[in-house]
Amino acid sequence: MTTSDTNHPRDFQSLPLQQSLLTNLEDLGYTRLTEIQAAALPAIMDGRDVIGQARTGSGKTVTFGLGLLHKLQVGQFRVQALVLCPTRELADQVARELRKLARTIHNIKILTLCGGMPFGPQVGSLKHGAHIVVGTPGRIEDHLRKGNLDLQGVQTLVLDEADRMLDMGFQAVLDQILAELPSQRQTLLFSATYPNTIDALATRVLRNPVKVEVTSAHTQNTIEQKYYQVENNEERPAALYQLLANFDVSSALVFCNTRKEADEAAQALKRAGVSALALHGDMEQKDRDCTLVLFANGSASVLVATDVAARGLDIEELPVVVNYHLSRDPEVHVHRVGRTGRAGQKGVALSLVSKKEIYKLERLEALTQQSITLQEVPPLPKGFVASRPVMSTLQIDGGKKQKVRAGDVVGALTGEGGIDAAQIGKIQLFDFSTFVAVEREVAKKALGKLANGKLKGRKFRARIVGV
Ligand code: ADP
Ligand code: MG
Repeated sequence: MTTSDTNHPRDFQSLPLQQSLLTNLEDLGYTRLTEIQAAALPAIMDGRDVIGQARTGSGKTVTFGLGLLHKLQVGQFRVQALVLCPTRELADQVARELRKLARTIHNIKILTLCGGMPFGPQVGSLKHGAHIVVGTPGRIEDHLRKGNLDLQGVQTLVLDEADRMLDMGFQAVLDQILAELPSQRQTLLFSATYPNTIDALATRVLRNPVKVEVTSAHTQNTIEQKYYQVENNEERPAALYQLLANFDVSSALVFCNTRKEADEAAQALKRAGVSALALHGDMEQKDRDCTLVLFANGSASVLVATDVAARGLDIEELPVVVNYHLSRDPEVHVHRVGRTGRAGQKGVALSLVSKKEIYKLERLEALTQQSITLQEVPPLPKGFVASRPVMSTLQIDGGKKQKVRAGDVVGALTGEGGIDAAQIGKIQLFDFSTFVAVEREVAKKALGKLANGKLKGRKFRARIVGV
């Protein structure tokens, strides 16, 4: 294993990428390379196998995305790149980013294949072929076994969030997929943490890899970490509420170790009047989609999630991260905490710690070489009432398959008797539905305008969703 040299390029234009990719990067406003991109792209473009370790939000998707697009031959219509992700949300997010990066490459087909989605339509899409497949291991293996998917033309394999895939028990399925891939290929493995299990996987699957590790020492300065003592688990829900109340939370991510805990913590916050939502693997896919939409567009204040559910999700502006329980793994802790304080902004990371968890604290102290002091949970500020989120979300029963576009939605909401364009927030299109955030005060008015008007010349049902 070798480590790449430190003479890294600083901007995309200095990379030997196709001109159309470079122009597009400029249009996207991507000028400077992130650390992981600068460190990994030269080796990737050299055709080397690469292990990349960097925290969520460091730009790993663009790193492998450019690597695989750079050598993709659109004239050869077969699967040339396979990207494996632990969850459907991540696969969707990666596919979206790849489509953005590839939008100047004509006729390129990027297909997502994930569990929790109907099987039949995927078989249909596969018959039409694709250049890039992004998906979750289980479903990909399913298609392989049924003979729907031919991976013999794959030149690049990406294992994204590999540590999570192993945590989720995908090892055996990964092996089955690997057996169907040509041995002559480039393999890129990305992981936020680097436990022994990943090392073992890397040794088996990668050839003489370059290891690129970007430890985010700079985040230490912008993230304030505080640790609070609780007696037992019964105290945690109230302690969580008190912390959030004291830190004036408009947007916080709370990490739980189990799904049950995530549900309980979210319920407790809701009872206290906080607009909180849980996110975990026991939930139905459409509820997970909706939850993420509401949190990302400002219609919910607090997202309470398990590590698996929250991993890799590209959520902007997270001023506060809370550890409802400390993670058993200090590396996971560092990673969770790194979700706040992005791009030089100030972040706060708060952790609840019981006596039984002191050993976890000691591990953390050993890893960070810093001593940690426990504080008392601050009491609820006098007369505290949680404020409502600024936005509210309308769900429209029509989406991409009905050819709905963001512009159509804006058109339908504004104009006579409608709301102001400035009162419209994020618009997210799914296959069969569209979510649009509007300022809370005008949500009813916006719904009325939709109910009485038309979109794409027809009526769609719509409703206000949320907490
Ligand atoms: P990771 O996979 O490391 O968690 P992502 O690939 O999801 O991170 O990237 C996080 C965000 O940063 C995305 O919104 C992406 O579009 C953006 N991004 C990536 N690279 C750059 C860049 N060089 N300049 C500006 N924004 C970037
Ligand atoms: Mg990622």
